[in-house]
Amino acid sequence: MESLASLFDAVQSDCDRAVWSRGVELARGESVQVESRDRREIVLRVVGKAGRVAPQVTLHLADEAWECSCASVDDPCEHVAAAVIALRREKKTGAALPDQAERMGRLVYLLRDQGGALVLERAVEFDGKRTP
Ligand SMILES: [Zn+2]
Repeated sequence: MESLASLFDAVQSDCDRAVWSRGVELARGESVQVESRDRREIVLRVVGKAGRVAPQVTLHLADEAWECSCASVDDPCEHVAAAVIALRREKKTGAALPDQAERMGRLVYLLRDQGGALVLERAVEFDGKRTP
């Protein structure tokens, strides 16, 4: 996977140093989880503090491009940095990153209109079932 190495370099060289070191911190432990991966694209979740929504990072291997769902002004942000750091570690050590789908359900937020008021519902989606 040559493309992962070049993506790593691209993220690192574009990354602010302080942001990168936050990424290193995040990449420790099991906070980076894989949602899906194929040859062109890897989707990961960076799980932070409990109760917070885990930002979703998408890495486009072929284009050396990345996206993150967080609101950070940093590009790349610490989540993207954490994702490439964790993936590189995985490749070096051979220890696979935790697969999110196997570990836990997905947290989903549903916004709906109830008599003119917006209601936010939080649910855990697991195995296709939603539990509020
Ligand atoms: Zn982010």
